Amino acid sequence: MLSRKMLDGLSEQMNKEIYSGYFYLGMSDYAASANLKGAANWFYVQWKEELGHAKKMLDYVNENGQRAGLKAIDEPPQDFSSAKDLFSRTLAHEKKVTGLIKDLVRLAKAENDKQTCDFLQWFIKEQIEEEATPQGILDKMICAEKDGKGLEELDSQLIARR
Ligand code: MG
Repeated sequence: MLSRKMLDGLSEQMNKEIYSGYFYLGMSDYAASANLKGAANWFYVQWKEELGHAKKMLDYVNENGQRAGLKAIDEPPQDFSSAKDLFSRTLAHEKKVTGLIKDLVRLAKAENDKQTCDFLQWFIKEQIEEEATPQGILDKMICAEKDGKGLEELDSQLIARR
């Protein structure tokens, strides 16, 4: 049985993961409209991945015989300016999410909840990748920026993500 505080924390994080998905779906929408086909695909895949994160949290709560409860999802930003803008905002967002997951781990420790602490380790590992991937794409963009063709080529690589 999860404590009230732990349950609320996990429910809130589930909501944030769905928000992350919504945030990325909005980026996919922008990218598609800006003819950035690769980025549109990359963010569409990211949307699905975030919903998977939310489902993982929901399943965990349910496996403990409890209910997470669904709250309203905030409206994501709409004002994007370029592919580089999308990935730098992705990196900033994932850094924030890492902080939230670490807060949850601290809460689990304070609640003496070793089981949830162990459960959250998957998310801690996942966040390393969630920060490294947009950072890697941004690094490539900075190199490619010097010639316009490089950016197009980079976008076409992002189509490959499934
Ligand atoms: Mg996530």
